[in-house]
Amino acid sequence: MSLMMSVSGVRGVIGDSMTPNLAAAMGAAFGTYLRGGPVVLGMDSRPSGEMVASAVKAGLLSAGCHVVELGLATTPGTAVMVTELGAKGGVVITASHNPVIWNGIKFLTASGRAPSAQIAEQIFAIHRDQRARHEDVDRVGRSERDLSTCDRHVARVIRVVDAAAIRRRQLKVVLDSVNGAGGASGRTLLEMLGCKVVHINADPTGHFAHPPEPTAENLVSLCEAVKKNGADIGFAQDPDADRLAIVDNSGRYIGEEYTLALAAKFVLSKSPGAAAANLSTSRMIDDIASALGGPCAVYRTAVGEANVVDAISARKCVIGGEGNGGVIDPRVVLVRDSLASMGLVLGLLAEDWRPLSAIVDEMPRYVMVKQKYELTREQINVWMQRVRLDTHGGRLSDVDGLRIDWPEGWVHVRPSNTEPIARVISEAADEATALALAKRVADLR
Ligand code: MG
Repeated sequence: MSLMMSVSGVRGVIGDSMTPNLAAAMGAAFGTYLRGGPVVLGMDSRPSGEMVASAVKAGLLSAGCHVVELGLATTPGTAVMVTELGAKGGVVITASHNPVIWNGIKFLTASGRAPSAQIAEQIFAIHRDQRARHEDVDRVGRSERDLSTCDRHVARVIRVVDAAAIRRRQLKVVLDSVNGAGGASGRTLLEMLGCKVVHINADPTGHFAHPPEPTAENLVSLCEAVKKNGADIGFAQDPDADRLAIVDNSGRYIGEEYTLALAAKFVLSKSPGAAAANLSTSRMIDDIASALGGPCAVYRTAVGEANVVDAISARKCVIGGEGNGGVIDPRVVLVRDSLASMGLVLGLLAEDWRPLSAIVDEMPRYVMVKQKYELTREQINVWMQRVRLDTHGGRLSDVDGLRIDWPEGWVHVRPSNTEPIARVISEAADEATALALAKRVADLR
């Protein structure tokens, strides 16, 4: 009942649905899909990591894979290692921002990215149909350890920023690693960029110091630490360090939407080109791209990291991501990466010597409203038909659910893949308008 299977892998509760049997079976299914070969295996800091990782490793070995164990590693760090080592795939043991009772198994393909829905389904089908291969004694896999993830990941980020310029700025940074996996590499990166680092929740125990989703209500202590230390910026990572939230120099949580907006502002100003973002991501990135003009354009994708990565590859985007603080810099790695995000935002500060609060205040300001409605699949379908026929002159996209854009804002209606609900997200310059736009669409149900 607590087991969640989705394109981003499997998540379950320890002592309940996330058992060693399941983990070994998933390892064997993935190893079978890959047809053997080297696979890197990392895990976040959860106390159950060793149990789940050991079982996944056993499954991979049984399917004939050679397993490179990274030990404690972030999701982007594991993805970096897949490509550094030329592995056929990667596995990260993490339940991302879920509480400590959860753990999960995330797959990565040979290009170090999240699998598409089709590939994820092929892996699950091998498990479901019990088609996993178990090799005989001559072909069963062996393992080795590689502890270079942090160094290699940090080196890749350093390569894409102007480290000397950031060092000159001598920034003071508070980093909140929520006792997750990103502390060591996050701190190493910041120190190499000449930052004075105040590191809170830096012990990778997996006992999260606050609920691990990097939202405003969970980051009160970070905001206080930024103020108390007179820091230039505060960064909050989630447990597997793919997402990043930012607190400005005044101790204000600026919201996860700004992580991608600030990173895109910097990257697009340096290398004008295309950007990719999912349909539920703020319009800020469109405003940034159109203000820069020229070849800057934004491609919108269905929700889901793999879809954003597809667009980055197909459109040769210079930056991409999601409004949940997930920034993808394809020069670093094709997954959301809190380290790349920190490097890019610090790059922006190094170029524009004003405090972050001043930069944020001059950016377009929007309010996003999120609602959900419990409805049957049939009711949702009828509703979507009505929305499609009654767009009030807006521009309609049906890439994923329905999104309607008007000059004053937009609404995105999207049925959940897993629950009998539909989510409505709307955005406008002020809350009243965002609510009115959401109501315009919700009233059609
Ligand atoms: Mg995460």
